[in-house]
Amino acid sequence: MTNKLKYFIGNWKMFGDFSSFKIIQEVNKYISKSKNLGKKKIVLCVPNTLIHFYKKKLRSKLISLGAQNCHFHEGYGAFTGSVSATMLKRLGAEYIILGHSENRLEGETNQIIKKKIISSLNQKLKVIFCIGETFNEKKNGKTYSILRNQIKSSLQNKFNKNKIILAYEPVWSIGTNKIPKMNELENIIKFIKKDFKLFFKTSNAPKVLYGGSVNPKNIKSLSSISEIDGFLIGGASQSSKKFIDIIENYYK
Ligand code: PEP
Repeated sequence: MTNKLKYFIGNWKMFGDFSSFKIIQEVNKYISKSKNLGKKKIVLCVPNTLIHFYKKKLRSKLISLGAQNCHFHEGYGAFTGSVSATMLKRLGAEYIILGHSENRLEGETNQIIKKKIISSLNQKLKVIFCIGETFNEKKNGKTYSILRNQIKSSLQNKFNKNKIILAYEPVWSIGTNKIPKMNELENIIKFIKKDFKLFFKTSNAPKVLYGGSVNPKNIKSLSSISEIDGFLIGGASQSSKKFIDIIENYYK
């Protein structure tokens, strides 16, 4: 079993209500019982409507709550329907997913993501920064250049990079039950870490998660890639059983 810290981060997407707190309770029960498994950090990124309610109910420190997006403007402003990093922090969020492909598909650019990262870091939120290529980009051999461009366009050397976790999420893998070939994935994760170090002239490799159709069955093969620092889990995190089985099977 690995001694390295591993992240298991759930992205509930547009799912859940007050009664879904039972999922978090189940996960919490499991985590308290399985402390002897490897070092792990559990984060659940839930809809904004639930963060404060869950935060008040969740007495445990074993699970952190996160948000899934924010407006780039900090504080308050004339942005109807939007929520700022400032507001999310006050609700009790500790983490925030930014740059998710579902938001990029709706027009979010690398420049907008950069502004969101700045306001989230200012608000002391830990950023889960998603990058990934589409199926066409992969087919045309552009995976590496897309990833490099996404990183270079949204991150700056002056950012506190200890507060940024990268999540490699190939767009073609999200919600499709398709995952990359293990050797390709290993090379991509290594590339992200190496390129990041070169670009930011640092000897510290960033934490890099994998996300895209992670489930209790495929987690075993994914666990063979030691460079992966954890997982961003979408659909499967909406079920306590699947989420727990992913963690359990990872350490088997
Ligand atoms: C995600 O939305 O970040 C994700 C990885 O989704 P899924 O696990 O459902 O593919």
